[in-house]
Amino acid sequence: MYFKAGVVFLASLALLTLLVLAAIQGNAKPNQVVEHEEWLEADVNKVSGDLVEKVKPGDTAGLILRRLGFSAPQAANMIDAAKQIYPLKNIHIGHSFTRQEDKGTPAVYYQIDADKKLLLTPNMQGKWEAETLERKVNTRVNVIEASIENSLFLDAARAGLADNVILKLVDMFAWDIDFARDLRKGDSFKVMFEENFDDEGKQVGYKILAATFTNRGHVYSGIRYETKSGVEYYDAEGRNLRKTYLKSPVKYSRISSRFRSSRKHPVLGYTRAHRGVDYAAKTGTPIRAIGDGKIVYKGWKGGYGRFIEVRHNNGIHSTAYAHMSRYARGMKRNKYVTQGQIIGYVGMSGLATGPHLHFEFRSRGRAVNPLKVKHKPAKPVPKDEISAFRLQAKEMMRLMSLFDQPSSWG
Ligand SMILES: [Zn+2]
Repeated sequence: MYFKAGVVFLASLALLTLLVLAAIQGNAKPNQVVEHEEWLEADVNKVSGDLVEKVKPGDTAGLILRRLGFSAPQAANMIDAAKQIYPLKNIHIGHSFTRQEDKGTPAVYYQIDADKKLLLTPNMQGKWEAETLERKVNTRVNVIEASIENSLFLDAARAGLADNVILKLVDMFAWDIDFARDLRKGDSFKVMFEENFDDEGKQVGYKILAATFTNRGHVYSGIRYETKSGVEYYDAEGRNLRKTYLKSPVKYSRISSRFRSSRKHPVLGYTRAHRGVDYAAKTGTPIRAIGDGKIVYKGWKGGYGRFIEVRHNNGIHSTAYAHMSRYARGMKRNKYVTQGQIIGYVGMSGLATGPHLHFEFRSRGRAVNPLKVKHKPAKPVPKDEISAFRLQAKEMMRLMSLFDQPSSWG
């Protein structure tokens, strides 16, 4: 791993600690992990001296207010005041009540949800009043860089990356990198992401803004960009990082049997599910892999006859092709195939009444109806937005590169 052990243990501590540590470390060499946290708006309302009580199972607002030091009549008065605004019968386990004192005048906050909080304050006459306030969301931008020495998850977690951010990073590049098999020691990544925190410092959201992943010497990059049709990740040229599948593995064919949870098998005679789609075509018609991936099975497989299964690069999907008359040349287990590549030819090997391709689409190992699988089109950045995209991509990459230089820590 690139970074010094000290950084590992302190990664989860406060910004100040990190900055102090960075200053002590002085001139970090390039390739060291550079962690940089920037509070775009430092406004966490945690003043020392506040009393905080979390709602526990069996709690009532009355009990909690008593624990915060209010008398029973005071608590009753406060609950009464809140009734019209936010009835304090609806308190949730884990949410908190905070008592603050301002020059001897108390105020109580209840965190309703990520967006709102309830404020209770006494008026001049000592009567309690209630109102709801918007909660401020604080945003922090992080850049984390690490190399892979053990496993992606282990090294990324050690570098301070939360699980949800690691998963998103894997999702982004899963179409190009086979994370289960392609990773090598020395591969590395750099990710710039935005985290949102509520006013109690709890993470309420995050998004990856840009990332690069170096796999076996090849650098992949991804930039978040919002087009009119939604948010996607694109490479530096504006190509969508997601890929889609071919609509059908056989050109010039007709569907002779659809996906069904149960049907009478024409050869076996009894009723059983048909977990794929049959494409009737002449013997010898080429069969194409519908997406890039790796052959995980090639050979005779019972009623399937000559059979190939391809695991696609996203690690979630696989496709299976059965009853082939023969395989295309060079097909073997662990071979990578590309989208549209001919992997075999239609036939009727195994249990088949006539030449056809039996095609299955599996998602996380379960057969799903290939005709019902919805693939969002993976379009590039539209032409009329490409110049705006290029500007933003350049700026993101520039921002990310700033974090390379320890001097920018200020
Ligand atoms: Zn079939």
